[in-house]
Amino acid sequence: MTRVVYVNGRYLPYGDANVHVEDRGFQFADAIYEVMEVAGCRLVDATRHLDRLQRSLTELAMPAPMSRAAMLHIIAEVVRRNRVSDGQVYMQISRGGSPRDFTFSGKQLVPTFVCLARPISRSIRDARADKGIGVITMPDIRWGRCDIKTVMLLPAVLAKEQALAEGADEAWLVDGNGFITEGASSNAWIVNGAGHLQTRSLTSALLPGVTRLTAIDVAATIGLKVELEPFTVPEAYAACEAFATSASGTVMPIVKIDGNIVGSGIPGPQAQALREAFHRVAEHMPIH
Ligand code: PMP
Repeated sequence: MTRVVYVNGRYLPYGDANVHVEDRGFQFADAIYEVMEVAGCRLVDATRHLDRLQRSLTELAMPAPMSRAAMLHIIAEVVRRNRVSDGQVYMQISRGGSPRDFTFSGKQLVPTFVCLARPISRSIRDARADKGIGVITMPDIRWGRCDIKTVMLLPAVLAKEQALAEGADEAWLVDGNGFITEGASSNAWIVNGAGHLQTRSLTSALLPGVTRLTAIDVAATIGLKVELEPFTVPEAYAACEAFATSASGTVMPIVKIDGNIVGSGIPGPQAQALREAFHRVAEHMPIH
């Protein structure tokens, strides 16, 4: 449960935490966000998440609302005030509010900064990973700059909703050439016939997942080979293993794709090894 939310300079009770109706995040999705895991009262991969947040701001010519040190101070305070030892932090920055107008240059906009945290039980998440999840595939109908972490998430909302309706947990989005770009809220991986981990290389078509990047580091430390190549839906069906990476699920084994059993239908050894080693390799920043 979230008790306290930081909104534009104030720590407010959850029920009183609001932004203006003419906020550009609300009207135009002119906003970016980050989600970071909290594990054992530490921020997981905070440096990489804040680097990506800065990149998203730069790509959209949005000024940072404050310094990185100030942001970290607020994150720590929100985690502390919400008594989160395991869970996640959500941060959102919009370009600010003003009478509705598409353009933003020359306007005196003050960015909106929202930060909240909520506890998530580690045992529930681990139980999900022990069982493995199901995904469905569907066309990727998103825009051409999915490398920027914007709140323009309607295609992801609809994809997840369809996955839920079909008894699955995630949707894998397929590009015009038949290759999987990524999940609706995760990066997509398989273990191919050569026994190598395979995930798509970074382009503007997908989010540069922080967990993806750390998983590549983890693979190197435990002697697993990674191929940065896209894969098709039939290749995914035929894979030895499949899994998703995201800050909210770390490494999540996939046991079903479009109703087809992956490998032996249980979480695969490479996905489990990556998951098990993940927190030993990821950065854990103490909350002061
Ligand atoms: N792709 C998309 C589209 C996402 O929304 C997310 C999670 N926000 C990811 C990948 C995974 O990124 P990360 O590992 O940084 O959470």
